[in-house]
Amino acid sequence: MPFSSLGLSKELLSRLLDKKYEKPYPIQQQAIPAILKGKDLLGIAQTGSGKTDSFVLPILNNLKVQEEKTRAIDCLVLVPTRELAVQVEEVFKFYNYSLPTPFKISSVFGGVSINPQMKGLFGVNILIATPGRLLELIRAKALQLSKVNTLVIDEADKMLNLGFKEEMDELIKLLPKKRQNLLFSATLNDDVKSINQLVLNKPIIINIKAKDQNLDLINQTAYFIQDENKGPFLRQIIEDKGMNQVLIFTSSTFKADNVAKKLMKHGIKATAIHSKKSQGSRTDSLIKFKNGTITALVATDLLARGIDIEFLPFVINYELPRSPKDFIHRIGRTGRAENSGEAITFVSEEEEHHFKVIQKKMGKLVETLDGDKLML
Ligand code: AMP
Repeated sequence: MPFSSLGLSKELLSRLLDKKYEKPYPIQQQAIPAILKGKDLLGIAQTGSGKTDSFVLPILNNLKVQEEKTRAIDCLVLVPTRELAVQVEEVFKFYNYSLPTPFKISSVFGGVSINPQMKGLFGVNILIATPGRLLELIRAKALQLSKVNTLVIDEADKMLNLGFKEEMDELIKLLPKKRQNLLFSATLNDDVKSINQLVLNKPIIINIKAKDQNLDLINQTAYFIQDENKGPFLRQIIEDKGMNQVLIFTSSTFKADNVAKKLMKHGIKATAIHSKKSQGSRTDSLIKFKNGTITALVATDLLARGIDIEFLPFVINYELPRSPKDFIHRIGRTGRAENSGEAITFVSEEEEHHFKVIQKKMGKLVETLDGDKLML
Protein backbone atom coordinates (compact mmCIF):
# COMPACT_ATOMS: atom_id res chain seq x y z
CA MET A 1 0.00 0.00 0.00
CA PRO A 2 1.62 3.31 -1.05
CA PHE A 3 1.37 6.61 0.88
CA SER A 4 -0.72 8.02 -1.99
CA SER A 5 -3.61 5.69 -1.12
CA LEU A 6 -4.04 7.02 2.42
CA GLY A 7 -5.98 10.19 1.56
CA LEU A 8 -3.28 12.81 2.22
CA SER A 9 -3.04 16.08 0.27
CA LYS A 10 -0.70 16.38 -2.71
CA GLU A 11 1.49 18.90 -0.85
CA LEU A 12 2.10 16.49 2.00
CA LEU A 13 2.68 13.60 -0.41
CA SER A 14 5.26 15.61 -2.29
CA ARG A 15 7.04 16.54 0.97
CA LEU A 16 6.97 12.85 1.93
CA LEU A 17 9.11 12.13 -1.13
CA ASP A 18 11.91 14.12 0.55
CA LYS A 19 11.80 11.67 3.45
CA LYS A 20 12.57 8.84 1.02
CA TYR A 21 10.29 6.45 2.90
CA GLU A 22 9.55 3.46 0.70
CA LYS A 23 6.08 2.76 2.04
CA PRO A 24 3.97 3.52 5.12
CA TYR A 25 4.73 1.57 8.28
CA PRO A 26 1.83 -0.55 9.65
CA ILE A 27 0.79 2.10 12.17
CA GLN A 28 0.73 4.74 9.42
CA GLN A 29 -1.35 2.54 7.12
CA GLN A 30 -3.95 2.10 9.83
CA ALA A 31 -3.86 5.40 11.70
CA ILE A 32 -3.69 7.96 8.88
CA PRO A 33 -7.04 7.08 7.20
CA ALA A 34 -8.77 6.77 10.60
CA ILE A 35 -7.50 10.14 11.82
CA LEU A 36 -8.42 11.78 8.51
CA LYS A 37 -11.98 10.53 9.05
CA GLY A 38 -12.05 12.33 12.40
CA LYS A 39 -12.02 9.19 14.55
CA ASP A 40 -10.50 8.96 18.02
CA LEU A 41 -7.56 6.60 18.17
CA LEU A 42 -5.69 4.49 20.68
CA GLY A 43 -2.30 3.48 19.29
CA ILE A 44 -0.28 0.94 21.23
CA ALA A 45 3.11 1.53 19.65
CA GLN A 46 6.64 2.28 20.69
CA THR A 47 9.17 4.81 19.51
CA GLY A 48 10.52 3.41 16.27
CA SER A 49 7.15 2.26 14.96
CA GLY A 50 6.68 5.45 12.93
CA LYS A 51 3.93 6.75 15.26
CA THR A 52 4.96 10.40 15.01
CA ASP A 53 4.37 10.66 11.26
CA SER A 54 1.15 8.68 11.75
CA PHE A 55 -0.45 11.57 13.66
CA VAL A 56 1.50 14.57 12.33
CA LEU A 57 0.51 14.01 8.68
CA PRO A 58 -3.28 13.70 9.10
CA ILE A 59 -3.34 16.56 11.63
CA LEU A 60 -1.60 18.89 9.16
CA ASN A 61 -3.94 17.64 6.46
CA ASN A 62 -7.15 18.33 8.37
CA LEU A 63 -6.63 20.86 11.13
CA LYS A 64 -9.32 23.52 11.33
CA VAL A 65 -8.01 26.77 12.72
CA GLN A 66 -9.72 29.92 14.01
CA GLU A 67 -9.64 32.84 11.68
CA GLU A 68 -8.65 35.34 14.31
CA LYS A 69 -5.27 35.16 15.95
CA THR A 70 -5.66 34.59 19.69
CA ARG A 71 -3.98 32.88 22.60
CA ALA A 72 -6.31 29.89 22.18
CA ILE A 73 -4.50 27.05 20.39
CA ASP A 74 -6.20 24.65 17.96
CA CYS A 75 -4.19 21.49 18.48
CA LEU A 76 -2.41 20.31 21.63
CA VAL A 77 0.22 17.55 21.65
CA LEU A 78 1.15 16.46 25.17
CA VAL A 79 4.51 14.72 25.56
CA PRO A 80 6.44 13.55 28.63
CA THR A 81 9.88 15.03 27.97
CA ARG A 82 11.59 17.99 26.43
CA GLU A 83 13.53 15.69 24.08
CA LEU A 84 10.32 14.27 22.66
CA ALA A 85 8.78 17.76 22.41
CA VAL A 86 11.68 18.92 20.27
CA GLN A 87 11.56 15.82 18.08
CA VAL A 88 7.81 16.00 17.49
CA GLU A 89 8.05 19.71 16.72
CA GLU A 90 10.76 18.98 14.14
CA VAL A 91 8.54 16.44 12.36
CA PHE A 92 5.58 18.86 12.34
CA LYS A 93 7.74 21.67 10.97
CA PHE A 94 9.29 19.46 8.30
CA TYR A 95 5.90 18.80 6.69
CA ASN A 96 4.32 22.14 7.59
CA TYR A 97 6.83 23.88 5.39
CA SER A 98 5.18 22.37 2.27
CA LEU A 99 1.66 23.66 3.01
CA PRO A 100 0.19 26.58 1.04
CA THR A 101 -0.81 28.22 4.35
CA PRO A 102 1.55 26.87 6.98
CA PHE A 103 0.40 26.66 10.60
CA LYS A 104 2.18 28.36 13.46
CA ILE A 105 3.81 25.60 15.46
CA SER A 106 5.62 25.87 18.77
CA SER A 107 6.77 23.79 21.72
CA VAL A 108 7.00 24.50 25.45
CA PHE A 109 8.69 22.50 28.20
CA GLY A 110 10.14 22.96 31.65
CA GLY A 111 13.75 23.36 32.66
CA VAL A 112 14.26 26.54 30.62
CA SER A 113 13.19 30.12 31.13
CA ILE A 114 9.42 30.66 30.81
CA ASN A 115 9.46 34.26 29.48
CA PRO A 116 10.45 33.67 25.83
CA GLN A 117 7.90 30.84 25.68
CA MET A 118 5.16 33.16 26.96
CA LYS A 119 5.91 35.77 24.35
CA GLY A 120 5.92 33.30 21.47
CA LEU A 121 2.47 31.87 22.10
CA PHE A 122 0.24 34.43 20.40
CA GLY A 123 -1.40 32.99 17.26
CA VAL A 124 0.02 29.47 17.74
CA ASN A 125 -2.11 26.77 16.07
CA ILE A 126 -0.25 23.62 17.09
CA LEU A 127 1.47 23.42 20.47
CA ILE A 128 3.66 20.56 21.66
CA ALA A 129 3.99 20.70 25.44
CA THR A 130 5.05 18.90 28.58
CA PRO A 131 2.22 18.99 31.15
CA GLY A 132 3.89 20.91 34.00
CA ARG A 133 5.09 23.86 31.92
CA LEU A 134 1.82 23.95 30.02
CA LEU A 135 -0.11 24.40 33.27
CA GLU A 136 2.25 27.15 34.40
CA LEU A 137 1.66 28.99 31.12
CA ILE A 138 -2.10 28.61 31.39
CA ARG A 139 -2.05 29.95 34.95
CA ALA A 140 -0.01 32.90 33.70
CA LYS A 141 -2.72 33.48 31.07
CA ALA A 142 -0.22 33.01 28.26
CA LEU A 143 -2.55 30.60 26.46
CA GLN A 144 -5.96 28.90 26.58
CA LEU A 145 -7.18 25.40 25.79
CA SER A 146 -10.84 26.32 25.25
CA LYS A 147 -10.65 26.08 21.44
CA VAL A 148 -8.59 22.87 21.11
CA ASN A 149 -10.18 20.64 18.49
CA THR A 150 -7.43 18.00 18.32
CA LEU A 151 -5.65 16.49 21.32
CA VAL A 152 -2.69 14.11 21.10
CA ILE A 153 -1.26 12.38 24.15
CA ASP A 154 2.04 10.83 23.14
CA GLU A 155 3.83 8.18 25.23
CA ALA A 156 0.99 8.18 27.78
CA ASP A 157 2.58 5.38 29.81
CA LYS A 158 5.78 7.32 30.24
CA MET A 159 3.83 10.44 31.17
CA LEU A 160 2.28 8.47 34.03
CA ASN A 161 5.62 6.89 35.01
CA LEU A 162 7.04 10.37 35.37
CA GLY A 163 4.18 11.30 37.72
CA PHE A 164 2.18 13.62 35.46
CA LYS A 165 -1.23 12.08 36.28
CA GLU A 166 -2.54 15.03 38.29
CA GLU A 167 -1.40 17.59 35.74
CA MET A 168 -3.03 15.61 32.96
CA ASP A 169 -6.34 15.36 34.81
CA GLU A 170 -6.27 19.09 35.39
CA LEU A 171 -5.46 19.85 31.75
CA ILE A 172 -8.17 17.56 30.40
CA LYS A 173 -10.77 19.50 32.41
CA LEU A 174 -9.77 22.69 30.57
CA LEU A 175 -10.45 21.24 27.11
CA PRO A 176 -13.72 21.66 25.25
CA LYS A 177 -15.95 18.54 25.22
CA LYS A 178 -16.08 18.18 21.45
CA ARG A 179 -12.69 17.31 20.02
CA GLN A 180 -10.71 14.56 18.32
CA ASN A 181 -8.44 12.58 20.63
CA LEU A 182 -5.37 10.54 19.74
CA LEU A 183 -3.59 8.61 22.44
CA PHE A 184 -0.33 6.72 21.99
CA SER A 185 1.34 4.48 24.50
CA ALA A 186 4.04 1.80 24.33
CA THR A 187 2.13 -0.32 26.82
CA LEU A 188 -1.46 -0.62 27.94
CA ASN A 189 -1.53 -0.88 31.73
CA ASP A 190 -4.41 -0.01 34.07
CA ASP A 191 -3.32 3.60 34.48
CA VAL A 192 -3.21 4.13 30.72
CA LYS A 193 -6.62 2.46 30.46
CA SER A 194 -8.02 4.96 32.95
CA ILE A 195 -6.81 7.93 30.88
CA ASN A 196 -8.08 6.24 27.79
CA GLN A 197 -11.57 6.04 29.33
CA LEU A 198 -11.39 9.65 30.41
CA VAL A 199 -10.29 10.95 27.05
CA LEU A 200 -11.27 8.73 24.16
CA ASN A 201 -14.63 8.42 22.47
CA LYS A 202 -15.22 5.08 20.68
CA PRO A 203 -11.60 4.91 19.53
CA ILE A 204 -10.14 2.87 16.72
CA ILE A 205 -7.56 0.67 18.44
CA ILE A 206 -4.27 -0.09 16.73
CA ASN A 207 -1.84 -2.43 18.38
CA ILE A 208 1.65 -2.58 16.90
CA LYS A 209 3.52 -5.32 18.72
CA ALA A 210 7.17 -4.81 19.57
CA LYS A 211 8.09 -7.81 17.45
CA ASP A 212 6.76 -6.04 14.38
CA GLN A 213 9.67 -3.67 14.87
CA ASN A 214 11.78 -6.33 13.26
CA LEU A 215 14.26 -7.59 15.80
CA ASP A 216 15.74 -9.67 12.98
CA LEU A 217 17.52 -6.58 11.71
CA ILE A 218 19.55 -6.45 14.92
CA ASN A 219 22.73 -8.52 15.25
CA GLN A 220 22.86 -9.53 18.87
CA THR A 221 25.80 -10.87 20.87
CA ALA A 222 26.08 -11.34 24.61
CA TYR A 223 29.18 -11.74 26.76
CA PHE A 224 29.43 -13.44 30.12
CA ILE A 225 31.60 -11.07 32.06
CA GLN A 226 32.34 -10.48 35.72
CA ASP A 227 31.16 -7.17 37.09
CA GLU A 228 34.66 -5.87 37.78
CA ASN A 229 35.70 -6.60 34.18
CA LYS A 230 32.80 -4.76 32.55
CA GLY A 231 34.58 -1.38 32.46
CA PRO A 232 37.81 -2.49 30.73
CA PHE A 233 35.86 -4.87 28.45
CA LEU A 234 33.58 -2.02 27.38
CA ARG A 235 36.58 0.07 26.32
CA GLN A 236 38.09 -2.91 24.51
CA ILE A 237 34.89 -3.51 22.52
CA ILE A 238 34.48 0.17 21.62
CA GLU A 239 38.04 0.23 20.32
CA ASP A 240 38.04 -3.20 18.60
CA LYS A 241 34.87 -2.45 16.70
CA GLY A 242 35.93 1.11 15.91
CA MET A 243 32.64 2.43 17.33
CA ASN A 244 32.07 6.10 16.80
CA GLN A 245 28.45 6.26 17.98
CA VAL A 246 27.30 3.96 20.75
CA LEU A 247 24.39 4.17 23.18
CA ILE A 248 25.18 2.41 26.48
CA PHE A 249 22.53 1.45 29.02
CA THR A 250 22.93 1.19 32.76
CA SER A 251 20.30 0.55 35.40
CA SER A 252 20.97 3.56 37.62
CA THR A 253 21.86 7.22 37.23
CA PHE A 254 24.84 6.67 39.55
CA LYS A 255 26.20 3.91 37.31
CA ALA A 256 25.58 5.96 34.16
CA ASP A 257 27.71 8.81 35.58
CA ASN A 258 30.36 6.36 36.65
CA VAL A 259 30.64 4.59 33.30
CA ALA A 260 30.78 7.89 31.41
CA LYS A 261 33.47 9.22 33.76
CA LYS A 262 35.66 6.12 33.32
CA LEU A 263 35.34 6.24 29.53
CA MET A 264 36.37 9.90 29.54
CA LYS A 265 39.35 9.07 31.75
CA HIS A 266 40.50 6.64 29.09
CA GLY A 267 40.15 9.09 26.23
CA ILE A 268 36.73 8.02 24.89
CA LYS A 269 34.41 11.00 24.56
CA ALA A 270 31.38 10.12 26.66
CA THR A 271 28.59 11.69 28.65
CA ALA A 272 25.70 10.48 30.79
CA ILE A 273 22.08 11.39 30.18
CA HIS A 274 19.44 10.74 32.83
CA SER A 275 16.67 12.34 34.85
CA LYS A 276 19.04 13.96 37.35
CA LYS A 277 20.73 16.02 34.64
CA SER A 278 19.35 19.47 33.84
CA GLN A 279 17.28 19.96 30.70
CA GLY A 280 20.01 22.07 29.19
CA SER A 281 22.65 19.43 29.73
CA ARG A 282 20.37 16.69 28.34
CA THR A 283 19.69 18.57 25.12
CA ASP A 284 23.33 19.51 24.77
CA SER A 285 24.43 15.86 25.18
CA LEU A 286 21.91 14.69 22.59
CA ILE A 287 23.03 17.28 20.06
CA LYS A 288 26.69 16.37 20.60
CA PHE A 289 25.92 12.67 20.32
CA LYS A 290 23.95 13.20 17.13
CA ASN A 291 26.62 15.35 15.50
CA GLY A 292 29.48 13.05 16.47
CA THR A 293 31.24 15.25 19.05
CA ILE A 294 30.54 12.54 21.63
CA THR A 295 31.20 8.86 20.92
CA ALA A 296 29.36 7.24 23.80
CA LEU A 297 26.08 8.29 25.39
CA VAL A 298 25.41 6.48 28.67
CA ALA A 299 21.70 6.41 29.49
CA THR A 300 19.12 5.00 31.86
CA ASP A 301 15.93 3.44 30.51
CA LEU A 302 13.49 6.25 31.17
CA LEU A 303 15.46 8.89 29.32
CA ALA A 304 16.33 6.64 26.41
CA ARG A 305 12.70 6.10 25.47
CA GLY A 306 12.38 9.27 23.51
CA ILE A 307 15.78 9.23 21.88
CA ASP A 308 15.28 8.99 18.15
CA ILE A 309 18.45 8.74 16.16
CA GLU A 310 18.36 7.45 12.66
CA PHE A 311 20.90 4.74 11.87
CA LEU A 312 22.27 4.28 15.38
CA PRO A 313 24.84 1.53 14.75
CA PHE A 314 25.55 0.20 18.28
CA VAL A 315 23.72 -0.34 21.54
CA ILE A 316 25.43 -1.86 24.59
CA ASN A 317 23.61 -3.17 27.62
CA TYR A 318 26.18 -2.63 30.34
CA GLU A 319 23.63 -3.91 32.83
CA LEU A 320 20.35 -5.71 32.16
CA PRO A 321 17.07 -3.89 32.66
CA ARG A 322 14.55 -5.43 35.02
CA SER A 323 11.84 -5.76 32.42
CA PRO A 324 12.21 -7.73 29.16
CA LYS A 325 10.10 -5.03 27.49
CA ASP A 326 12.75 -2.46 28.33
CA PHE A 327 15.38 -4.79 26.88
CA ILE A 328 13.52 -4.95 23.57
CA HIS A 329 13.04 -1.22 23.70
CA ARG A 330 16.74 -0.64 24.32
CA ILE A 331 18.00 -2.81 21.48
CA GLY A 332 15.29 -1.34 19.26
CA ARG A 333 17.29 1.91 19.29
CA THR A 334 19.47 0.21 16.69
CA GLY A 335 18.27 -1.61 13.57
CA ARG A 336 15.61 0.99 12.95
CA ALA A 337 13.98 2.12 9.77
CA GLU A 338 15.21 -0.96 7.92
CA ASN A 339 18.90 -0.47 8.78
CA SER A 340 20.79 -3.27 10.48
CA GLY A 341 22.46 -2.54 13.82
CA GLU A 342 24.38 -4.32 16.53
CA ALA A 343 23.29 -4.87 20.12
CA ILE A 344 25.81 -6.15 22.66
CA THR A 345 24.82 -7.32 26.13
CA PHE A 346 27.04 -7.82 29.16
CA VAL A 347 25.83 -10.56 31.48
CA SER A 348 27.35 -10.98 34.93
CA GLU A 349 26.95 -14.17 36.92
CA GLU A 350 24.03 -12.76 38.91
CA GLU A 351 22.30 -11.69 35.70
CA GLU A 352 22.51 -15.08 33.91
CA HIS A 353 19.12 -16.35 34.98
CA HIS A 354 17.43 -13.05 34.20
CA PHE A 355 19.00 -13.01 30.75
CA LYS A 356 17.42 -16.42 30.06
CA VAL A 357 14.03 -14.95 30.96
CA ILE A 358 14.61 -12.00 28.66
CA GLN A 359 15.55 -14.23 25.73
CA LYS A 360 12.45 -16.32 26.28
CA LYS A 361 10.18 -13.26 26.32
CA MET A 362 11.91 -11.89 23.23
CA GLY A 363 11.53 -15.24 21.44
CA LYS A 364 15.18 -15.21 20.42
CA LEU A 365 18.30 -16.99 21.59
CA VAL A 366 21.35 -14.74 21.66
CA GLU A 367 24.81 -16.11 20.94
CA THR A 368 26.73 -15.75 24.20
CA LEU A 369 30.53 -15.70 24.41
CA ASP A 370 32.88 -15.81 27.37
CA GLY A 371 33.89 -12.15 27.75
CA ASP A 372 36.31 -12.78 30.62
CA LYS A 373 38.40 -15.06 28.38
CA LEU A 374 38.34 -12.52 25.54
CA MET A 375 39.86 -9.79 27.71
CA LEU A 376 43.26 -8.64 26.61
P1 AMP B 1 8.86 7.25 15.55
O1 AMP B 1 8.28 5.93 15.93
O2 AMP B 1 7.83 8.23 15.16
O3 AMP B 1 9.81 7.76 16.61
O4 AMP B 1 9.73 7.05 14.19
C1 AMP B 1 10.86 6.26 14.14
C2 AMP B 1 11.77 6.51 12.95
O5 AMP B 1 11.24 5.88 11.78
C3 AMP B 1 11.97 7.97 12.58
O6 AMP B 1 13.37 8.15 12.39
C4 AMP B 1 11.23 8.14 11.26
O7 AMP B 1 11.85 9.09 10.42
C5 AMP B 1 11.30 6.75 10.66
N1 AMP B 1 10.13 6.43 9.82
C6 AMP B 1 8.84 6.79 10.07
N2 AMP B 1 8.02 6.31 9.10
C7 AMP B 1 8.82 5.63 8.21
C8 AMP B 1 8.56 4.91 7.00
N3 AMP B 1 7.33 4.80 6.51
N4 AMP B 1 9.61 4.35 6.37
C9 AMP B 1 10.88 4.48 6.88
N5 AMP B 1 11.19 5.15 7.99
C10 AMP B 1 10.18 5.72 8.67
